[in-house]
Amino acid sequence: MHHSPRHIRPDTVTAVATGRLGAVLERIEKETAALGEWGSPADYIPLLAGADPRRFGMAVAEPDGTVYGVGDWRTPFSAQSITKVFALALVLSLEGERIWQGVGREPSGNPFNSLVQLEYENGIPRNPFINAGALVVTDRLQTLTGDAAGRIRELLRAESGNPVIDFTPAVAASEAAHGARNAALAHFMASYSNIANPVPDLLAAYFRQCSIEASCADLALAAGFLARRGVRTDGSVLLTPSQAKQVNAIMLTCGTYDAAGDFAYRVGLPGKSGVGGGIIAVVPGVCTLCVWSPGLDRRGNSVAGVAALDRFTTLTGLSVF
Ligand code: GLU
Repeated sequence: MHHSPRHIRPDTVTAVATGRLGAVLERIEKETAALGEWGSPADYIPLLAGADPRRFGMAVAEPDGTVYGVGDWRTPFSAQSITKVFALALVLSLEGERIWQGVGREPSGNPFNSLVQLEYENGIPRNPFINAGALVVTDRLQTLTGDAAGRIRELLRAESGNPVIDFTPAVAASEAAHGARNAALAHFMASYSNIANPVPDLLAAYFRQCSIEASCADLALAAGFLARRGVRTDGSVLLTPSQAKQVNAIMLTCGTYDAAGDFAYRVGLPGKSGVGGGIIAVVPGVCTLCVWSPGLDRRGNSVAGVAALDRFTTLTGLSVF
């Protein structure tokens, strides 16, 4: 039996004129506030614990560098694990596939700072976005450049056009003072020869990297190369189109701690969250987003941030699926 073809709606991706994304953001800001669900700020880094969970900002950047935002979209916040995306991009651009000798590309299903899996898997972390994997990436970037955190800051400054993006030494110090678990991860991997630099030097670089403060506008713009198939704002190549695809794929599968499946289900975009309450997300070829609200859910993702991205893809139809 033949069915007559159903009426197909015009593709919502093209139906949303990108200039209208600003209006979509205003609607999302109101709807997210109306939900009244904010979570609570990370408390394991004392300096982040005092953040007001009701703060909310969201920015969307188009590939040509046009950026729109609502709420606290120009307020710098602690980028934390969002910097792991930029560290990975730099290492891939400097030496390609070699990094995969020391770190895998599978979701972990475990909390971001878990130790258990590492022993079963001989000191090779599951992916570059859990802490153990990020330590391997930063270790490699440190070996390749001598200044991993500085290179990440430089990339963020150049791509966002904001020359004042910087580390926050008090946050790095606060994290170092409570960094026993990250130190344990690094020492444990060093025992498998999967860390090349002295562990104290690596931890210092990693905590500096995590302490970078940037705004939604900065991070949406800085992630633009992931929507431009690896091309930087100045037209030079940071990643090949394949590498940009690979980073986006790892963000989709591993970018939001052990909630990546739920994030993919709700949002349908590559994303990377940080415990400062920020999340970046990529619509390849169309735009990059960054949302910030410091209240987290139990798995470490911003409650209002995930809700806002969920609304964004629902309202615009922009998704990779
Ligand atoms: N600096 C944090 C840590 O390693 C990053 C955590 C995060 O944002 O996921 O504990």
